Order: sequence, then C-alpha cells, then structure tokens
Amino acid sequence: MDLRRYQYEILGNRFLVLEGSRGCPYPCTYCTRVIQGKKLRPKTPEQLGREVEAAVRQFAARNIYFIDLEFTAAAELVRGLCEYLLARAISVRWCCQTRVDQVDEPLLALMRRAAAG
Ligand code: SF4
Repeated sequence: MDLRRYQYEILGNRFLVLEGSRGCPYPCTYCTRVIQGKKLRPKTPEQLGREVEAAVRQFAARNIYFIDLEFTAAAELVRGLCEYLLARAISVRWCCQTRVDQVDEPLLALMRRAAAG
C-alpha cells in the first residue's frame, strides 16, 4: 500500500483508517449504529497497538483515524493503546470520535500525549 496516495484534510498525508472496536451501547435514535449493534466489541490494546505499530514502521503512516463509532466507549482499550504507543515511542498523529461524557481530563491528557506524532 502506497500511503503517499492517501490523505485526510484534517490530519494530513500518509493517512490510513484503523478500527479499535465495533458497536456502541448508547441509545441515540438518529444514529446509524444499528449497522453495528449495541454490543461493544473491542480489540485488546495489544492487538490495536500492533496494527498501529505496523502501520507506522512498515508503511510509514503519519496520520491515523480510528473509525470506531465511539472510541472511548472502550476506555480500557484507549488507555492501553496510549500506553502501548508511548512505551514504544511510536510517533503518529491520530484522531477519533467520542462523546463529551465519555472523556475526562486525565484520559484526554493521555490521548494527547500519545497522539502528538
Ligand atoms: S454515542 Fe455516537 S455512535 Fe453511539 S449511538 Fe450515539 S451517536 Fe451513535
């Protein structure tokens, strides 16, 4: 895969999409979540961390979008992923979707450190 051909206006070039979990337990009636269902099915931090690591080390990815419906619904996955990236000095910028009631300052600070690129 030649990531020079992929970009996202918000993040930049050498961009790809990964997914940490499927499903969302929240009840928003307007949402397309019905496609994935209510049951949250997260990967482990190690699974997702290895995917990010491969994207960075093998494909020179610089920017990643986690396309999960609600990334921090799987808070343990997100914390574990951040710790995985920081422990291995994996430098990549990333973003996600979340709910304002599903983050707090410590989690946001950890995510910011791990997404500094
Ligand atoms: S929190 Fe987001 S993904 Fe979950 S049901 Fe509501 S709008 Fe959909």
